[in-house]
Amino acid sequence: MDSVNASYVARDLAHVWHPCTQMKDHEQLPPIPIRRGSGVWLEDFEGKRYLDAVSSWWVNLFGHANPRINAAVREQLESLEQVILAGFTHEPVIALSEELTAAAPAGLTRCFYADNGSSAVEVAVKMSFHYWRNVGRARKRRFITLANSYHGETLGALAVGNVQLYKEIYQPLLMDVITVASPDCFARAPGQSWAEYSTAQFAYMERALECHAHEASAVIVEPLVQCAGGMRMYDPVYLTLLREACDRHQVHLIADEIAVGFGRTGTLFACEQAGITPDFMCLSKGLTGGYLPLSAVLTNETVYAAFYDDYVKLNAFLHSHSFTGNPLACAAARASLALFREDNVLARNQVLAAKMGARARELEHHPHVAEVRQRGMIVAIEFVRDKATGEPYPWQERRGLAIYRHALSRGVLLRPVGNVVYFMPPYVITPSEIDLMVDVAREGIDLATCA
Ligand code: PMP
Repeated sequence: MDSVNASYVARDLAHVWHPCTQMKDHEQLPPIPIRRGSGVWLEDFEGKRYLDAVSSWWVNLFGHANPRINAAVREQLESLEQVILAGFTHEPVIALSEELTAAAPAGLTRCFYADNGSSAVEVAVKMSFHYWRNVGRARKRRFITLANSYHGETLGALAVGNVQLYKEIYQPLLMDVITVASPDCFARAPGQSWAEYSTAQFAYMERALECHAHEASAVIVEPLVQCAGGMRMYDPVYLTLLREACDRHQVHLIADEIAVGFGRTGTLFACEQAGITPDFMCLSKGLTGGYLPLSAVLTNETVYAAFYDDYVKLNAFLHSHSFTGNPLACAAARASLALFREDNVLARNQVLAAKMGARARELEHHPHVAEVRQRGMIVAIEFVRDKATGEPYPWQERRGLAIYRHALSRGVLLRPVGNVVYFMPPYVITPSEIDLMVDVAREGIDLATCA
């Protein structure tokens, strides 16, 4: 192994500890060093290309090295790279806040910044808790979450999430939460519609709110798609019911749109499909078009007002991160929002989504495919051992890994979540690239389920 790629791999493995990885796996499958990106393509040091069907962990919206976002970041770099956001401000963060509040569901008028998704969840959780304390209802300090939800890896975010693979080991470190059955429609009965199933599942949430409203600070959900939980999807009616019930029980609603925001579900924000405004909306990933680490928590005037007081009352939200509202990241975010406004992105995505869905649904008849589901630009294919009973393959068999390996050999980056192959590509993907992506996924599923 003396190729250019191999020399990077050797240097990498000497010092880099990769995220979400059993490093021993790299004895079999080394990390792939990437030299450059262009559009949906990533290229290694020997010229091999990979179609980024997962938008590099769901962040990239308009392709790698997008000329318009590049130009905006470059221009910003010439004048200001970073400045403390406490006591100081700058044009990119001011303009971005104006643009985000204009684009967000009505009533979300205040933006608090952090620099990654988990931190945004921490901010929303702390702000909700602190709000109730500031208004004299300090008993409201617990959080209600959905089974199979995911909100990040820091301890607060992990606590309000529910993917056991990431959570279980750290349980002794985590706050206690109230977990409610998910509206995830994969479990619906044959013939039952998504709306019927999600509506029926709301009974569990209603009961939890009835029992716990006196001590509940907020309900946190991933609107419409539980992404890390296997791209499990539910009907917007659940969010409509949830908004009404949260109001009735005086419990906040936190919408974690970190993965589903910025057009992934077909609308700019997933909450729009239910016609609701959450009390807190967490954004990250696609916020900067996937360029730079930035997150934002949007909230309303009522929450803001509860923190607005004389300093000595100690009601202020004293949370901070060094890189909060970084100007380069804000410039990238503004360029990304401009692309949405100028290029009719959501309408053009409908064509791409229709093509992706139609091609993926060809797999519905596959003997090991239990379901092909879609919400906008997210398409997921769930494969099972037994199609008749829905029995899954045991996780220890790591059949998704076989698909990952096959896809890499064919120049496509697919990264199944358990037994779910999904497509969440950048919006610059072409119809023929969609064909390649789906063809390779089908080959991978054939291969992984043949024995
Ligand atoms: N919430 C959701 C819904 C996510 O999908 C993720 C990341 N996959 C996070 C929060 C955490 O974001 P980050 O990885 O930037 O901390």
